[in-house]
Amino acid sequence: MKKLNFGAGPCILPQSVFEESAKAVLDFQDQGLSILEISHRSKAFEAVIEEARSLLLELMGLKESEYVALFLQGGASLQFAMIPYNFLKTKAAYIDTGVWSQKAVSEAEKVGKVEIVASSKKEGFTHIPSLESLEADYDYLHLTSNNTIYGTQFHQFPKGTNIPLIADMSSDILSTSRDYSAFDLIYAGAQKNIGPAGTTIVVIKRAFLEKVNALNKFKILNYTEHVKADSMLNTPTVFSIYASLLNLRWLKSKTLAAIYTENTKKATLLYDTLDRYNWIHPYAHKTSRSQMNITFTISENSHAELFDSYCNKYDIHGLKGHRLVGGYRASLYNALTLDSVKRLTEALDEVNTHV
Ligand SMILES: *Cc1c(COP(=O)(O)O)cnc(C)c1O
Repeated sequence: MKKLNFGAGPCILPQSVFEESAKAVLDFQDQGLSILEISHRSKAFEAVIEEARSLLLELMGLKESEYVALFLQGGASLQFAMIPYNFLKTKAAYIDTGVWSQKAVSEAEKVGKVEIVASSKKEGFTHIPSLESLEADYDYLHLTSNNTIYGTQFHQFPKGTNIPLIADMSSDILSTSRDYSAFDLIYAGAQKNIGPAGTTIVVIKRAFLEKVNALNKFKILNYTEHVKADSMLNTPTVFSIYASLLNLRWLKSKTLAAIYTENTKKATLLYDTLDRYNWIHPYAHKTSRSQMNITFTISENSHAELFDSYCNKYDIHGLKGHRLVGGYRASLYNALTLDSVKRLTEALDEVNTHV
C-alpha cells in the first residue's frame, strides 16, 4: 500500500516518475544498460541533461540567451559557500528567515562582510520580515523564498533595489506563479520539489556570471568553470538528473498554471481546516503562510494522540514537525494530490468529533 507522503524532503514524486525511473534502472531506453551504469559522456545522457536544462529554463520562463542552468552536487548547502566565494567582494545583504538562511549567513561570514538587513528572529520566524530601503552598494541580496522548517513563504520579493537578487528556492521552486527573471541567481536542492536527492539546480543570469571573482582558487567552486564544462566538471548525478527530467516533463504536461491552481486549492483546504478548530494552532502568521510546508501544533495531548492514530490508519506519512518548531508539518509538494490533503483534513475532522 502506497503511503500518502507529506514528508518535507526527500519528497513525493509523481507515480509515473517512480515507474519510469524504475524501468530505466533495469534497462535505459532499450540499450541493454541501466541508467545507473551508462556513461555520463554518452550521447544518451547528453540528451538527458540538455533536455533537463532547457525544460527547466522554459518552465521558469527564462531565455537561454540570458540565463544558464546547472546541475551540480553538494546540495543547497554547498551553494551557501559557493555564492559568497564567487560573488562576495565588499559586502553582502542577507534576509534572516530562520535556520536555512542562517546557515547561508554563517558560510558567507567566512568569506567577507555580511549584513542582516531584515530578520524575524525575535518572533520565532513566524513571518517574513519587511525590508527597509537598501543602499545599492551590496554585492547581492540573499533570501530564502520558502522556509521549509517554519512554513513561511515570501509572497512578494524586494523590488527596485538595483542589488543582484539571489534566492534559495529549495522548497518552492516551480510550485507557484513567480517572475524568475527578477533574480540573478536561483538555487535549489532537487529533493524538495524537483527530483530525488543528488543534484542541485543552479540558475544564473549570464550578465551576473561576469561578476564571478577572478581570484577564485578552486575550480570545482567556480561557477564559470561549471558553465564552461556544461555541469560535467566532475561526474554528474546521472540518475538524479534523469528522474528530475521525468518530473520536469510531468510538470510541463500538467502545465504550471494547473499545478499552481491545484497547489492553492490544496493549501487553502488545509489552512481552512486548521483555522476552523480552536485546538489547532497554525505556526506561521497568515500573511506569510507557505503553500508548500504547513506547520501547526495541537494543544491537547489526547487530541494529538487521536490524530496520530488516524494518520496511521489512513496511511498518512511524514507529518512530524521539525525539532525546532515541534508539532506537525504537512508538506504539500507538487506531486501530492488534493485527495491526499482531503484525507488529512478528514482525519482532523474526525478528531474534532471527539473533542
Ligand atoms: C532542505 C533545505 C536546504 C538544504 O538542502 P541540502 O540540499 O540538503 O543542502 C536548504 N535550504 C532550504 C530552504 C531547504 O529547505
